[in-house]
Amino acid sequence: MSNFATLLDGYHEFRKEDWEQHRDSWHELAKGQHPKIMVIACSDSRVEPATVFNTVPGEIFVLRNVANLVPPDDQSNRLNGVSAALEYAVTQLAVTDIVVMGHHECGGVAAALTHKFDHASLGEGGYIDHWLHLVAETRDAVVAQHGDQATTELEQALVRLSLDNLRSFPWIAAREAEGALTLHGAWFSIADGRVYTLDTGSDAFRQN
Ligand SMILES: [Zn+2]
Repeated sequence: MSNFATLLDGYHEFRKEDWEQHRDSWHELAKGQHPKIMVIACSDSRVEPATVFNTVPGEIFVLRNVANLVPPDDQSNRLNGVSAALEYAVTQLAVTDIVVMGHHECGGVAAALTHKFDHASLGEGGYIDHWLHLVAETRDAVVAQHGDQATTELEQALVRLSLDNLRSFPWIAAREAEGALTLHGAWFSIADGRVYTLDTGSDAFRQN
């Protein structure tokens, strides 16, 4: 397993190989970033958007959190890192696409299904419990339809929920309506390395 010393070994490898080979790109990137795509993914260490989509630095603007969730627009809560990152990506970088990517075996989804952190104290799961309040209604609907083992169904339902919540921000909904911004849903299956994308017509996830 990695520790900080192995990370530094990796950094020295990066300096020798990748950075050296792409020195011109890094100098260009130092002048500013112009990504056209934002990816919202889970913090899970196995779900690395740059790896899954084979992107290079400067190409995607990434936000990650527990269970790739976007809370609905709440103007009374301005200490909100998700809203700030969205506002920057959409209104300052003018991204043309936002991808919300859920994944198989999501620990946040499992916790929502098992009620693992319900009523936990802060520092012992309480913050996770509060964060997962966002998904309670969706979780209950999925459990009512598919049972309490329906991890994939809930992982995919939460992608739809985050897409719906993105549209609660008026400056996102307006850009989508005028065709300047497209929202996409995706779900990554870790074991077989496949990305499924949400087909808006059928509302189903289809393998790519
Ligand atoms: Zn996850």
